[in-house]
Amino acid sequence: MIQLYIPLNFLGVLYREIRQSLTDIERMFALMDTHREVADVPDAVALPAGPCEVRFQQVNFGYERSRQILFDVDFTIPAGGRVAVVGHSGSGKSTLARLLYRFYDVNEGGGRITINGHDIRRLTQDSLRGAIGIVPQDTVLFNDSIHYNIQYGRVSASAAEVETASRAAQLHDFVQKLPDGYATKVGERGLKLSGGEKQRVAIARALLKNPPILIFDEATSALDSRTEQAIQGQLEQIARGHTTLVIAHRLSTIMDADQILVMEAGRIIERGSHAELLALDGAYAQMWALQAQEDSAEAPPENAV
Ligand code: ADP
Ligand code: MG
Repeated sequence: MIQLYIPLNFLGVLYREIRQSLTDIERMFALMDTHREVADVPDAVALPAGPCEVRFQQVNFGYERSRQILFDVDFTIPAGGRVAVVGHSGSGKSTLARLLYRFYDVNEGGGRITINGHDIRRLTQDSLRGAIGIVPQDTVLFNDSIHYNIQYGRVSASAAEVETASRAAQLHDFVQKLPDGYATKVGERGLKLSGGEKQRVAIARALLKNPPILIFDEATSALDSRTEQAIQGQLEQIARGHTTLVIAHRLSTIMDADQILVMEAGRIIERGSHAELLALDGAYAQMWALQAQEDSAEAPPENAV
């Protein structure tokens, strides 16, 4: 039986479950071209604790009906495995992260995303988001202390645990130098942090949360390469044993991923290990060659101070 759920605010009627012929309703959705807000279904279940296998099954998605962004995206991250996504800007990488965290739902009839076999649309949002730590491309901080912003990852964490996470994210030394240390207010109405500092707060928050699933969306893109390298080791250590989706801007950081997906215009055009993709001599090999060129151009002359 096909089931359709209409969220509370959609028709201005009570949240209810409709089981009937869907043709008219689908047509109605198409006509209204409305972004249906994500909401818990009435009989949503909590994701049981434990290791998580993540699957994208023939996922199709568009933010607007008139423009499809993802086409038949299909991949599996085994529990504790690491899948990396690369591709040009606009190819749909961040959209994968947003769908897994359920900022948006996969289109009706457009495949599904599952965790341990559960369609994520059937899970409570609390349990889904509780199982995922996400370091987004652009982090927005709360107008509150640095301590609060990190501790948000796990509100029960002690000050010592916050500091450990902050050290792992290469943030501690920076915070120590602030006049009020961890009590320093940040955000729009406080101290403005740079993109890289905000990223490190987000990393510390995700590390503190220590969830079974981690999403890093170009999580170190705003960092200088030295800090990036310093954090990279930490991230790899922490991601070990966690199901990880890593969207990479620097290919050298994902060489050892179990599988690398190459996206172009919303489709996976190549997939495999780093070595397999180089041997394929296609889009990935080209990106790799290009980045190697850029890196050698960027490298400072020897003995430079
Ligand atoms: P990437 O992370 O690979 O750079 P994104 O997943 O952010 O790409 O975006 C994929 C496409 O979706 C882009 O064409 C972008 O313009 C579009 N897009 C992203 N977010 C939205 C949104 N909220 N509404 C409409 N279109 C969007
Ligand atoms: Mg992106």
